[in-house]
Amino acid sequence: MFKRNKLGKKSTFEDAIQHYLEGNIRDSALEFAAWSKANGLAPKQDGDPAEWLIPYKDDCLCWIHFEPKYHFRFFYCDYSGEQDEGFMRAVQDHVMHCTTCHEGPCSGGDAVIFGKAFTNVCKEFTVRFENPDGGTMEHIKQLLAYWKEKGHTSVSYHYHNG
Ligand SMILES: [Zn+2]
Repeated sequence: MFKRNKLGKKSTFEDAIQHYLEGNIRDSALEFAAWSKANGLAPKQDGDPAEWLIPYKDDCLCWIHFEPKYHFRFFYCDYSGEQDEGFMRAVQDHVMHCTTCHEGPCSGGDAVIFGKAFTNVCKEFTVRFENPDGGTMEHIKQLLAYWKEKGHTSVSYHYHNG
């Protein structure tokens, strides 16, 4: 049985990874944690050791939650421009339809994500990667770089408010 260490307000991102994740998913997360620190994008606890965000300047590049599911969530912005083919496909494959944001749906809408048209796209939590493995993590790193460039154009509430 996987043994869980105790977590609290002072837990590090690595502590949370050790607590919530196992196997190769945990290894990829630990590698990401080291990479994020080395690149000035270290996740910060968002009031709960299961909830983290990546601060950048005055804004927030993405959310990382470990519960109820381990996922990275990116917000709504203009996803466009010439990008690496594999990266664009990875983002398109993880576009979320709007179901429930907070108390109710954000009402969603049509969106073109790197040239592909989508309907009923969530206008807050637009792209979500669940249980990312090492390959997916490379696309997450690319998306963080993309958001560093494009984030200021986003009208997403959570991008600007955490
Ligand atoms: Zn929504």
